[in-house]
Amino acid sequence: MERIILLCVVSTCLSAIHAQKFLFSPKWGPVGYKEHEEHGDGTAMDDIIKANEFHASRIIDGTTSLREGDIAVTAGRRSKVCFARSCLWSKSVDGHVYVAYRLSPDYSEMETKLIKKGMENIEKGTCVRFVPRTHQQDYIDIQPKSGCWSYLGARGGRQTVSLQSPDCLRVGVISHEFMHALGFVHEQSRFDRDNYVTVMWPNIWRDRLRNFEKFKTDNLNLPYDYGSIMHFGMYAYSQDGEPTIVPKNIKNIKLGQTSSLSHIDKLKINKLYQCGDADDY
Ligand SMILES: [Zn+2]
Repeated sequence: MERIILLCVVSTCLSAIHAQKFLFSPKWGPVGYKEHEEHGDGTAMDDIIKANEFHASRIIDGTTSLREGDIAVTAGRRSKVCFARSCLWSKSVDGHVYVAYRLSPDYSEMETKLIKKGMENIEKGTCVRFVPRTHQQDYIDIQPKSGCWSYLGARGGRQTVSLQSPDCLRVGVISHEFMHALGFVHEQSRFDRDNYVTVMWPNIWRDRLRNFEKFKTDNLNLPYDYGSIMHFGMYAYSQDGEPTIVPKNIKNIKLGQTSSLSHIDKLKINKLYQCGDADDY
């Protein structure tokens, strides 16, 4: 009898382990994305999560890993101070902020067009201009590596922005990664976010809880932007299809943005780089 009970316990344990593996296997897609996709209103960040969870490792190489899902951080290097004004691209005397880029020759003509569209998205109404690199020392090196990710702000010298083909080659995703390169973190990482959204911790995929941390951000005196291209979608990292971020005291508002920057995103850029109003550009 004892042996039978023991056997039962072992088999229960085994099936529990199996279930856990299934639950946390990278191949297992959190239900939330699928359901959300069917509604046809996915955000740029939903696309990024999908691409990064299925293809990329959270460790890019020995010393660099991804924070919040798509921000590359190198161990030992300054990373969180970028919310201040220490990691800005320099401003030209003509008032524009020129960001030099090199585009991998591996992209097709069509893909190159999309990437440029992602840049135009940011340039329109802001002082930022992306220019092909000629001699500039600081530049972004856009490559189809594994996943969609970027470093935060200007690091000095060459810095990679990874836009894997085809998963990351959507205009919204491209603009989102360039926003990180300009120095912006995710909107719901703002230190005051709990006044505006409720993070539904029990619904989050357990080993991705850290992607919902808050940081000491410089909010530039701008209102919380539910519709920012840098905002997680309502179902980001959902483990059971239930929402993971819910707006507070406000109904029928969409979190995040599919393909374009919000008005406040543009204000943010102009404020951070002290460029005046969108009307000036
Ligand atoms: Zn991001």
